[in-house]
Amino acid sequence: MASARVITLDLNFQGRPHAIASYLIRHADGAVLIESGPGSTLPALQAGLANEGLSPRDVTHVLLTHIHLDHAGAAGWLAQQGAKIYVHRVGAPHMINPEKLIASATRIYGDRMQSLWGEFLPVPESQLIIPKDTETIEIGDLRFTPINTPGHAEHHYAYLFEDICFSGDVGGVRIPGYQYLRVPMPPPELNLERWHASIARLRKEKFKTIAPTHFGMFNDVAWHLNEVDKGLDTASRWLEEVMPSDPPIEELRQSYTDWVMAEGEKVGLTEDVVRAYEVANPLGMSADGLLRYWKKVRKPE
Ligand SMILES: [Zn+2]
Repeated sequence: MASARVITLDLNFQGRPHAIASYLIRHADGAVLIESGPGSTLPALQAGLANEGLSPRDVTHVLLTHIHLDHAGAAGWLAQQGAKIYVHRVGAPHMINPEKLIASATRIYGDRMQSLWGEFLPVPESQLIIPKDTETIEIGDLRFTPINTPGHAEHHYAYLFEDICFSGDVGGVRIPGYQYLRVPMPPPELNLERWHASIARLRKEKFKTIAPTHFGMFNDVAWHLNEVDKGLDTASRWLEEVMPSDPPIEELRQSYTDWVMAEGEKVGLTEDVVRAYEVANPLGMSADGLLRYWKKVRKPE
């Protein structure tokens, strides 16, 4: 079974388990990581590697699903240790020159930027690889297939490996132990229609396990993908309800948070899990993403 080859490294983001994963797969000459995690969790990543008898120099390749800080922040550092970095074409310029990405994140996070995300180093162009949609990536005896999956971000790949799909954020956020999934909808590229299309595309691929970066491996793929679709549809209905009155953003964030919290209560989430979800997927961020999507895509003047 494929999943036996995959080791889940818990990066313990903000001291919380089950928030951000990096997936490790060994090959004859080292190891591949799916996601680097942010710069702030490099000590946890190194500890996880050491636990497997590996050093950062053993990481030969890093496959990024997209360039958001929680997925790709430490890729530049791993490139410095010698790794090749794989990323979607649209995200690639920001890995080579992350200044704009860092500046826009700093506008959001302000002085919490460093403690939350740590350093985001550039990836040298010579170490950056841009695979095409469905082009086989061969690393030793390992075979990966990138699947173009926009919606959460325009530049998003899911990676198929044997019977696993590493779904990044397009497969939503799901914390082990609960039959509950959340759809993370940050600005600026959120697009609900394109996201639905990506889920339809993933549904056609025959994999048995889905592994979102937040967090872990799940075998109820049909339920999982349906839940993403449902999450997108409910967000869409919520938008149609609240947006016509053109509420200020603070009100929108509050209203969105209240609504999602009420949903969580229905499935009996404990306070600890609610906090874990908030760390993996801040709700205010999704309200911002939905507002931008509404203004840019749904209701262009
Ligand atoms: Zn993301």
